[in-house]
Amino acid sequence: MRIGQGFDLHRLVQGRPLMLGGIEIASDRGEEAHSDGDVLLHALIDAILGAYAKGDIGSHFPPSDMKWKDADSKLLLKAVLEETQADIINIDSTIVLERPKLRPWIDPVRESIASLLGIDIDQVSVKAKTAEGCLGELGQGDAITASVVVLVK
Ligand code: MG
Repeated sequence: MRIGQGFDLHRLVQGRPLMLGGIEIASDRGEEAHSDGDVLLHALIDAILGAYAKGDIGSHFPPSDMKWKDADSKLLLKAVLEETQADIINIDSTIVLERPKLRPWIDPVRESIASLLGIDIDQVSVKAKTAEGCLGELGQGDAITASVVVLVK
C-alpha cells in the first residue's frame, strides 16, 4: 500500500462557477483559475500522483500551456488515473470554505468523486469547515482550500 497527500487553494471571484469534486455548487462566486478551478479534484489529482511519486498537477498540466485553459478537471483526473492505473482503497478530504454552507452538497460531491474513480461512496470521505471568519482571505470568503489523503494499493 502507498499513501498520497494533496492540497489546493483558489481565490473566489464573481462570475465563475464554484466547482467541487466534479459538480457545480450553487454560489455567487467561484474559483479563479486557468482551468475550471475545481480545488477538490486538483488536490485529489496531486494526492494520487503523490502516492505513486509521479510529480504534481503543475508538471503534468502546466498553466503556461493554453491546452489546459478552462480545462475540465474531470478530464485531468481521468488522464492521471490512466497514467497511474490507481487502485484506490479510500480517500479522505477536507474543504475550507466560508460560504455557502456545504452540508447539503457533501453527499452529491462524494457520489461524483466515487463515480469518477469507479469506487463506492463509502470509500470517499468529504468534510467541510469554515475558517470561522478569521484566517484572512479564507475567513473573508475570498478563497477556498481543499486537502486530500488517498490510500492506494
Ligand atoms: Mg488548482
